[in-house]
Amino acid sequence: MQMSLPMITYRIEAADPNAHLWRVTLTVERPSAPQRLSLPTWIPGSYLVREFARHLSALAATQSAAPVPLEQLDKATWLARCDAASPLTMTYLVYAFDTSVRAAFLDAQRGFFNGTSLCLRAEGHEARPHRLEFGELPAHWQVATAMRAVKVDALGRGVYEAAGYDELVDHPVELGRFWRGRFTAGGVPHDYVVAGALPDFDGERLLADAKRICEAQIAFWHGEKSGNNAATVLATGGKPAKPPYERYLFLHNLVDDGHGGLEHRASTALISPRRDMPASGASVQAKTEMSDGYANVLGLISHEYFHTWNVKRLRPAEFARYDYTRENYTELLWFFEGFTSYYDDLFLVRCGLIDAPRYLRLLARTVSGVLAAPGRQVQSVAQASFDAWVKYYRSDENTPNSTISYYTKGSLVALALDLTLRAEGKGSLDQVMRGLWSRSEGGPIAEGAIAEVLQAVGGRSFASELAAWVHGTGDLPLRALLESVGIDWSEDVPTLAQRLGMRVSESALTGIKVSHVLRGGAAERAGLSAGDELLAVRGWRLRRLDDALRVLQTGQAAALLASRDQRIVELTLTLPAEPGPGAVALKAAAKPAKPAQALQEAWLAGR
Ligand SMILES: [Zn+2]
Repeated sequence: MQMSLPMITYRIEAADPNAHLWRVTLTVERPSAPQRLSLPTWIPGSYLVREFARHLSALAATQSAAPVPLEQLDKATWLARCDAASPLTMTYLVYAFDTSVRAAFLDAQRGFFNGTSLCLRAEGHEARPHRLEFGELPAHWQVATAMRAVKVDALGRGVYEAAGYDELVDHPVELGRFWRGRFTAGGVPHDYVVAGALPDFDGERLLADAKRICEAQIAFWHGEKSGNNAATVLATGGKPAKPPYERYLFLHNLVDDGHGGLEHRASTALISPRRDMPASGASVQAKTEMSDGYANVLGLISHEYFHTWNVKRLRPAEFARYDYTRENYTELLWFFEGFTSYYDDLFLVRCGLIDAPRYLRLLARTVSGVLAAPGRQVQSVAQASFDAWVKYYRSDENTPNSTISYYTKGSLVALALDLTLRAEGKGSLDQVMRGLWSRSEGGPIAEGAIAEVLQAVGGRSFASELAAWVHGTGDLPLRALLESVGIDWSEDVPTLAQRLGMRVSESALTGIKVSHVLRGGAAERAGLSAGDELLAVRGWRLRRLDDALRVLQTGQAAALLASRDQRIVELTLTLPAEPGPGAVALKAAAKPAKPAQALQEAWLAGR
């Protein structure tokens, strides 16, 4: 007879969908005496302490049907004064009405959860097998998760098993009645679940496009000749290059309004607007057109799938083991989020899903966004990574002044390194990514490894670039680098809001409302604050911000009336003579030099 490890089992039931309550029954087969149990404060991949325990209630413990005394030790930890002789059973409810990919949800139509929201951690037993069983669920509900199925029915209901707690909470679960499709990439099945689709949703097109992205990325990481061409067939001695998982699952929830994704080791949870999904029927145009919305969806798929390698396996040394009780600091999100952001849209153009002009428009938007944030001169991307927990994930009206996004500037650091390597003729960032993968064997790395692989690929030290671009706050030399690959850089005429150094929202209901006052700008000098409503300039009522252009004169002080907290305030506003930068536009040069043309083609083709 085979000895099996004692098991941790969670039985999940939809206790009351209308009250958004999951019931969880946790059985710890051979508990410690006493046994500590805690719920994570955060979910890996989303760097904010979210305090999932705030949704937990009605916690009780029993052993052999007798109650066990429970003591709460802190906001998310309990101590069950049990003995070690027999299984400990914990029951509790979890309120689940979070529509994001980071927590849990339950109503009469749909269920979703991450283990970090529903599964108390039996401390000290994380390495045991963890099972998930489904009890009472609404009729006809299906279950989808990348966790290994032990015994499930046709709807996917039954028993699943993970090798430990880390794995358990890295397999989100979608429940309800959803659309389901499948394709193969790299010889591995990829299942695709879509919840909440409109009746004309074109699933076949989505599958075909997702498959192209997945195949290109598998070839990128594992293809022959180090995948020098992402479009080449994935052949390694005639056999397809295998990705580092047996099966992959997309859990895609469609909503009226929303966008986001969270990466996991063998799956991803995605949210996007249902109107952005491809439609069949109505018109031939609908079948082939690439709307901006659908390009966004494909960019999201590309981003989260790339994370399967870059952050789930290749990852910061600080994430070698997660501490679920507190912030896990790393300076490397500029690499893991930024470089993933660089490659997400780049793969769309490399796969032929978007054309080069559209790719350059997306890139220009990122460049403009970074240049419009005064915070780029305040924080480096390494500091912004470390501070993600209190800055990026807690954005407010001061965010553009105090920090820089490690996503957007990080992606431009990737671009700058890639174009530098290519211009010097020594290689590309693609080789650096693969070099890091093989060097770490798809595991944790420290920043030093990035510098070393850059040097190995580029044939020289990149220490000064890393110091300036990653740890410094100066602007990246993007214009010169883009011009070296035959891309023309131009700047639009700045909008009035840009000239005044503020961001506004305009609507008939709220008027012209200031959302952000940028550091060092005319709006700040005038004394405007976030939340102010702009009413009049020089005695003229403003209906839209651009009305002010008709009455303001460059360099001359003008009386400005604004409304703040129900009061009318009188301020003096001066339109600066220096217009400042507008949005950046990027276009392929009409007649680039031959070498620049060749570099551009190789870059966009992934050669
Ligand atoms: Zn990401």
